[in-house]
Amino acid sequence: MTYAFRPHVPELTMASGPCSIYPQVLAAMGTQMVHHRTDDFVNLMRSVSDDLSTLFRTTRRVLPVEGESILGLEMAAYNLVEPGDVCINLASGYYGAGYAKVLRGYGGDVVNVAVPYNTSVTIEQVRATLDAHPDAKVLAFVHSETPSASENPMEAICRECHTRGVLTIVDSVSGVGGSDVRFDEWGVDVCVTGPQKCLGSTPGMSLVAVSDRAWEHAHRVIADTGRYERSYLCLLPWRSWVERDYVPYTPPISSIYGLKAALDIVMSEGVDAVIARHETAARATRAGIRAMGLDLWVDDEANMANSVTAVTVPDGIDDTVLRGLMDDRYGLHISGGLGEEAGRLVRIGHMGYTASLQKVLTALGAFGSALAELGHPVDLTAGLEAAANVAAKTAVQ
Ligand SMILES: *Cc1c(COP(=O)(O)O)cnc(C)c1O
Repeated sequence: MTYAFRPHVPELTMASGPCSIYPQVLAAMGTQMVHHRTDDFVNLMRSVSDDLSTLFRTTRRVLPVEGESILGLEMAAYNLVEPGDVCINLASGYYGAGYAKVLRGYGGDVVNVAVPYNTSVTIEQVRATLDAHPDAKVLAFVHSETPSASENPMEAICRECHTRGVLTIVDSVSGVGGSDVRFDEWGVDVCVTGPQKCLGSTPGMSLVAVSDRAWEHAHRVIADTGRYERSYLCLLPWRSWVERDYVPYTPPISSIYGLKAALDIVMSEGVDAVIARHETAARATRAGIRAMGLDLWVDDEANMANSVTAVTVPDGIDDTVLRGLMDDRYGLHISGGLGEEAGRLVRIGHMGYTASLQKVLTALGAFGSALAELGHPVDLTAGLEAAANVAAKTAVQ
């Protein structure tokens, strides 16, 4: 049997992540192996580590864990949650809701704060929940809910929890690099991102920032619970990296070449400038969608993510047909909705390499043209003009 895998189709992926990646990353990943127990590799890792600390705005080392970002998120619960611990979980979307199960899996007594998946949790809701559960040990939430394109107020939530001594676990897989994250200043405890979203590299790693408070707590939890200390989920083996530049396992060397190339781009452009580029791409996409006469999925501008935009599927349009047409005719891949949102929204990712006006205009053009072909005419010219105007105004400022 032959399989119809077409490696260069689509030509451009602007999905919910991974998206198409920087050409420099593609090139770097073809580099020959360096052994991970050599000075050359250690120096490469130190340089990656410095860049990651700059990106997360922390003086601490960010752990370069092998395994997709879900692993880093489960690590947080493995190391911070003991049976019976009260854990507040903000369920503002698909990933947030799902994390309740992870917390329960490690014995957490979960207090779930659920809001509709087209909005964000407010700081008032967080304060009220913390007031009602003064014994809470942990609060977990998703910074940028990629499946519905909403964003939670990370700074306010983390500052509030820090003051009250509640440990925060933040899924910022599609946040870091696209939205502001200040790990030290905001008193965040564990923050996880992946190379494949706003950093414009490939999936397969978890980049995990851990506060001093979280390290201390992890030592206690592992000792108290008797959990296996050499588990891939255990943070403690990573102390060897923090304290003496020794990575505990065989790292994904090609992924690290790619990550370094992506971080080189972020460092030379500047973290603030990269975040501003994501913000502009997001605002241009939203302006374009609205001017075409279409509806955004998220309820309020203030709750919308920088890395991805969700568009409500117009009545009478089958989103699988729409996305199939975009793939086949225009070589441009976008995402549908997950779970309850399947068929109700589509998502355009503007992250890393695709957080650019050129890519956004391409996506809007293909999206509007495909909708028109399916019998839902849109004002394409107005859409493209509105998107370009956002960028022009941003450039003037
Ligand atoms: C992509 C994503 C994940 C999962 O990352 P993987 O690397 O696929 O495991 C988790 N949370 C959010 C918010 C994401 O966008």
